[in-house]
Amino acid sequence: MTGPVLVDVLRAARNIAGTAIRTPLVPSAVDAGAEVLLKLETLQPSGAFKLRGAANALSQLDENARRRGVVCCSTGNHGRAVAYAARRLDIPATVCLSELVPDNKVKAVEALGATVCRIGASQDEAQREATRLVDERGMTDIPPFDHADVIAGQGTVGLEILEQRPDVRCIVIPLSGGGLAAGIALVAKTVDPAIRIVGISMSRGAAMAASLEAGQPVDVTEVATLADSLGGGIGLCNRYTFELCRRYIDDVIVLDEAEIYAGMRALFTVDRLVAEGASAVSHAAVLAGKLELHGPTAFVISGGNVDMQQFTRIVNGDPVEVGELTVGGRQHA
Ligand SMILES: *Cc1c(COP(=O)(O)O)cnc(C)c1O
Repeated sequence: MTGPVLVDVLRAARNIAGTAIRTPLVPSAVDAGAEVLLKLETLQPSGAFKLRGAANALSQLDENARRRGVVCCSTGNHGRAVAYAARRLDIPATVCLSELVPDNKVKAVEALGATVCRIGASQDEAQREATRLVDERGMTDIPPFDHADVIAGQGTVGLEILEQRPDVRCIVIPLSGGGLAAGIALVAKTVDPAIRIVGISMSRGAAMAASLEAGQPVDVTEVATLADSLGGGIGLCNRYTFELCRRYIDDVIVLDEAEIYAGMRALFTVDRLVAEGASAVSHAAVLAGKLELHGPTAFVISGGNVDMQQFTRIVNGDPVEVGELTVGGRQHA
């Protein structure tokens, strides 16, 4: 593995300037036993941090590749980011989305002018279609996490946190394919190995958590979850993120759907933030008593592209359907 290093993240910061914004790091009111700061990636123009990695990867393409266009598969936010960055650079984009991707995210990708290809019951099946388009039409695949330029782009979140609060002792990161965690951890651990890195996933289909446990990439079945942006496998032939996460993540926490539901409510009622389930996992872990903090800690609030109907139900304490589960409502009132 010749993965990304710190200098790649520094270059990424230059490459993405003007497309992704430098987001604020603001104090949280959450009672976590230590000072908590929120890195508001919900404010990115595409609604999530994924714009950083996508913008960095697209900035590296030559004239020929730009003309042939890009393709990606996505749980929603990566597709939206690729569509947004591609439109700015005048590159044709095709986004493959599985049936698990919520409609609000599908519509957002379409609205950005990308071609949407709705296919398959899982992220893996959507990826197969993306690979087919690469083979058939010479498009360039922009992977959602396991790509050096994407990881370096996500790493700029870490650069900013360390600039904004050099005294940070811990960074808590929603964990799926691990591009975000790998990029941030690469920066933080290079600067100071004592900075603690915590990754958080949902227990329903936590591919990276299961892989770290097994000591190698493993497959998990993808199912519906309130943290829909955290779904999908890490790829059995994972090139970068598995090794980086194994090297750098100190603790992994997993949460059930009721805990994520409570986290979403807390993010809104305590910190007045509209954010998706993936962004609420840090608050959820605090509430569940699974996250103990010492010293200034940054929570990465990774994205805000929540389905508004589902969100208002959760804020009201009403039950919501998550696949075959009903979460919230009377039992958690
Ligand atoms: C993609 C995503 C994540 C997880 O990022 P990985 O790099 O796949 O670990 C977390 N939160 C949101 C909102 C996302 O879109």
